[in-house]
Amino acid sequence: MGEFDLIRRFFQRPVRRAALGVGDDCALLAPAPGMQLAVSSDMLVEGRHFFADVDPRLLGHKSLAVNLSDLAACGARPLAFTLALSLPRADAAWTEAFAAGLLALADAHGCELVGGDTTQGPLNICITVFGEVPPGAALLRSGARAGDDVWVSGTLGDARLALEVFRGTLTLPAAAFELARRRMETPVPRVALGLALRGIATAALDVSDGLVGDLRHILEASGVGATLDADAAAARVALGTPDVDAGLDIDTLRLCALSGGDDYELAFTAPAAARAAVEAAGRAAGTPVARIGRIDAEPGLRIVDAAGAPVAQRFTSFDHFA
Ligand code: ADP
Ligand code: MG
Repeated sequence: MGEFDLIRRFFQRPVRRAALGVGDDCALLAPAPGMQLAVSSDMLVEGRHFFADVDPRLLGHKSLAVNLSDLAACGARPLAFTLALSLPRADAAWTEAFAAGLLALADAHGCELVGGDTTQGPLNICITVFGEVPPGAALLRSGARAGDDVWVSGTLGDARLALEVFRGTLTLPAAAFELARRRMETPVPRVALGLALRGIATAALDVSDGLVGDLRHILEASGVGATLDADAAAARVALGTPDVDAGLDIDTLRLCALSGGDDYELAFTAPAAARAAVEAAGRAAGTPVARIGRIDAEPGLRIVDAAGAPVAQRFTSFDHFA
């Protein structure tokens, strides 16, 4: 099977929203009149972002999920995406499963595959997503103001716990490991929440490298500081809730919540007066939201416990070049 057979069999599909999809030199997108295009790329590299033997269906899902997560963080509605794929060999079974996972998530979000590139080489997946957002409505990193609350969606830290099990540094009860593994392998992009937070959140981003490191981007872009409640964050770890009972100590829960990575949740800020509106946005999107801190005028990030006392632990984020 050659490059063009692979493309025709697995990636060429009729388009509805785009004016032209796979098959020509360019795709043609047709955003609604007056809308801005939100554009983002994310690359997934074997050995760095996933293990070589990962289930291709899950890899397909995750490759698009991490990109949709960026649109969610901007409050943009998904429109289309391109797929640049480097494959060690033309493996029909592998590619079919990868495409199934990828396109199921794409269809769930009405996000059309409109083009890409396919080449032989080390397994590497680069997706570029296109979304649309009304001018002035995009959620940026630069809008946080002193007095705002810091919020986070969903759960934190569970993907990191799964990674530590794979690395052999941690053991978990089977049911807890399955839950953590699902969080690592099939993250849920918070697209509906991002849309619901337009006009409410003052700043937002998606948590991919760990909450503390990612939140610093908002603080820098907004010229503010923050105080985070490590215990409110630790309470967001699904494996820390009593019904899962994974037997994790508080230091581990804080560490995973604050610097775990691979969460693909939204961290965002909103004025204290908007608390009811944020809760309503979470309900409308079917996504839990929780308040875990506040924005300060004083620069820097302070991490405290539930009683307000400073937490001594070091929380560092994942950095590919550190
Ligand atoms: P070009 O020679 O102009 O780069 P290609 O021969 O690489 O075009 O690709 C042919 C068509 O198939 C183009 O429309 C391109 O966007 C599309 N395409 C190539 N690889 C993929 C892929 N992995 N997924 C979706 N579309 C793809
Ligand atoms: Mg090409």
